[in-house]
Amino acid sequence: MENREERLIFAQKKKPMLKQKISPQEVAAVKKIFVTCKNVVIVCHTSPDGDAIGSSLGLYEYLKRKGKNVSVIVPNYFPDFLHWMKDADKIIMFERQKSLSYSLLKMADLICCLDFNDMRRIDELGGAIGKMRCKRILIDHHLDPDKSKFDFILSRPELSSTSELVFRLLDAMGEKDVLTFAAAEDLYAGMATDTGFFSFNSNDPDLFVIISELLKKGIDKDLINRRIQNNYSPDRLRLIGYVLYEKLEVYPELHASLFAIRKEELTQFHYLKGDMEGIVNMPLQIKGHKLSICLREDTEKPLIRVSTRSVDDFPCNELCAQFFNGGGHKNAAGGTLECSMDEAIEITRKALEAWSEQLKA
Ligand code: 5GP
Ligand code: MN
Repeated sequence: MENREERLIFAQKKKPMLKQKISPQEVAAVKKIFVTCKNVVIVCHTSPDGDAIGSSLGLYEYLKRKGKNVSVIVPNYFPDFLHWMKDADKIIMFERQKSLSYSLLKMADLICCLDFNDMRRIDELGGAIGKMRCKRILIDHHLDPDKSKFDFILSRPELSSTSELVFRLLDAMGEKDVLTFAAAEDLYAGMATDTGFFSFNSNDPDLFVIISELLKKGIDKDLINRRIQNNYSPDRLRLIGYVLYEKLEVYPELHASLFAIRKEELTQFHYLKGDMEGIVNMPLQIKGHKLSICLREDTEKPLIRVSTRSVDDFPCNELCAQFFNGGGHKNAAGGTLECSMDEAIEITRKALEAWSEQLKA
């Protein structure tokens, strides 16, 4: 133990609240890493979502309270509807602040990688992290982490979100009471966004025990839901209308649908990053629908972003690995295609054909 304060905090530790999914050996390993580190950098995946930012800021709050120097570095821009989180304005954007990012990474004795499973998911920032000599740990809920790049891995693909995993870890460490109000808000936001506000991947009763615990910290979950869901421009609503009315191709016999949206169309609706968020879920409202695919032309790079959503057993991650150079979770996955939109639509139709047996059933 580094100092008296840390000795005291660990001595006072509370019994875990949840039946643990994290072993005593894992708890001991993380404690040792956290006690010995001084300068910590937390990073999450490219185009960070609510879980990436929520879990990163949640862990940031905790480590700050333990007296560490902590920074959060994200590969690129994160959407406006997450900017309300405490210290979101302190998050460093690698793409725009490279020299600051490099100097923080060089000073770090610990890098915590959250909500991704492979350095390739964080583009150039992954290369930068790979060069650092310090300890690297991964805390994540995606399948098949790349084991070669980390000194310690806490991977739980069965959990709803990395935010849930961070809560469970702190609980297992007996540190739940150290969680601040802001951390409770962050972790709630991560759990809520990765489960579509508790409409998928959310049948584990523990999830609601955790929410109850976060509510006891004083969070207003209704307000958080509104901050995330009701934070758009009129243009975004008109874009949704346009996509659903003009662009959606439904394949009733396959219980699937596809929509493709080009750069010029996005510009027409004064597109801001984040405006397409969640639209891919909407076709799943069609009775009996199993799969929804969105193709979106990137506004900065010459590529097509693919987003897929499914229900029940249809494996979006396998579909994305096979056809879209990607991966993800069973019911939510994505990838990219470096081709024209017409070619991307062709590839997608072939993917639907290849999976037609499973989709028709
Ligand atoms: P979204 O459709 O919201 O962009 O992504 C949904 C999920 O798919 C993400 O949480 C992530 O797990 C996964 N995903 C998205 N894009 C990619 C990609 O290019 N590669 C991989 N491996 N996974 C992706
Ligand atoms: Mn996640």
